[in-house]
Amino acid sequence: MSKSSKPRGIFASPKGMHDILPQEQIFWERIRKSVKEIAESYNFLRIDPSLLEPQALFERSLGATSDVVEKQMFSFKTRGGDELVLRPEGTAGIARSYIQHGLSQLGSPVKLYYMGPMFRYEQPQAGRFRLFYQAGFEIIGGDEDAIYDAQIILACYRMLESLKLKKLMVRINTIGCKNCRPAYRKRLVDYYKGRGGATLKEKLLCRDCQRRLSVNPLRLLDCKVPSCQELRKDAPTLLNGLCAYCKAHFKSVLEYVEELKIPYMLDNYLVRGLDYYNRIVFEIFTDAVPAVDVRKKADGVTSIKFDFALAGGGRYDYLIEMLGGRKDTPGVGGALGIERIVEVLRALGTLLPLGKTKSKVYLIHMGDLAKKKSLGLIENLREGGIEIAESLGKESLKSQLRMADRANSPMALIFGQKEALEDSIIIRDLITGAQETVPLHKAVSEVKRRL
Ligand code: AMP
Repeated sequence: MSKSSKPRGIFASPKGMHDILPQEQIFWERIRKSVKEIAESYNFLRIDPSLLEPQALFERSLGATSDVVEKQMFSFKTRGGDELVLRPEGTAGIARSYIQHGLSQLGSPVKLYYMGPMFRYEQPQAGRFRLFYQAGFEIIGGDEDAIYDAQIILACYRMLESLKLKKLMVRINTIGCKNCRPAYRKRLVDYYKGRGGATLKEKLLCRDCQRRLSVNPLRLLDCKVPSCQELRKDAPTLLNGLCAYCKAHFKSVLEYVEELKIPYMLDNYLVRGLDYYNRIVFEIFTDAVPAVDVRKKADGVTSIKFDFALAGGGRYDYLIEMLGGRKDTPGVGGALGIERIVEVLRALGTLLPLGKTKSKVYLIHMGDLAKKKSLGLIENLREGGIEIAESLGKESLKSQLRMADRANSPMALIFGQKEALEDSIIIRDLITGAQETVPLHKAVSEVKRRL
């Protein structure tokens, strides 16, 4: 090997990005199944929007000053000069698709669900990755009715509940609408800035908040920096400044949520960082896991704090119009973070039936002729509805029997040189050890009879 072609080391997945390994797949499969079942039981239709979207789509919908657009997009220019991004979230793409494909024809409102990867250039830490999966529900069109907000919260809540997650709590707030929010924004800015010039309060804010104060002041309410949290204690709350319509809407959503017996608490500081939200915003947490108690080695993360949201969402009545669609098309949606759900289940030790995979009939071959004929035999068995495990790459009887044992197979089909020549096969019960030779053409029916 020449010097230049010498391998320089092994590759790892990019920072904050992970593989879902074969041994984890059953677990993910369980979650996918749950998403599908819950979605279908509440009449949501599956949609898989594009993984790549125009960058401008998110600038216009999430807002140019949102953290996601400002700092977290994986963006690039194609050879043709288009500016694209790996989608950081699902809602904007679905709204784009709704307009582009006239999805209002599917229902008014149309109820959609999705599951797939999202990409955000974040600082990887516990529960925060650059590649992560979300499952989400959206209700777009029809009337702007509080019942839909409740249905979205319900779908997210039931999804978590179906995975046996306990002590769930919905935190809920309203951030008003374009009628009442501007006046509140002004009061909030006045509180920090004072009416003339910068006050001490403004100077005490963290850098991010000092900047947000002029571009996105509502974000000051959900800042995690302790000094900013201290300052917000006396800040005016939106609740008192809501217009009559927003007040009534909020009240109805809470009544529905109560009717559904979903545990919730009001959280005046919940704002969520995207421009497209109005009125209801919510997040779902679990208290089932103590705050810090698990250690994890992956990706530089050493300890996990379970104080992160498992799901979040809200109403977005202006989004469709913002993207050039029909005016007055309301919408509401929510998304669940799959990795976070997996982490919580792991920490709780309630990893879902990872256990038993469906045990399969094991085909054991001996000799070249049997090996060759096994290919056709497997196809016959498969077409006959019998699931087969094999290790055609192994030759020794001992190692094949060991594999059958490991696979927990209840039955083995032993296909040796003699059987291959005589067109017969041995069916062996791996539990009792009893075995019988049967003609090859009867293999499917004989196996079926014994299973
Ligand atoms: P969002 O799209 O920001 O409203 O997030 C909805 C849910 O997705 C959150 O409640 C999290 O469970 C999950 N999520 C968001 N960002 C990340 C991330 N960077 N890594 C892992 N999960 C995330």
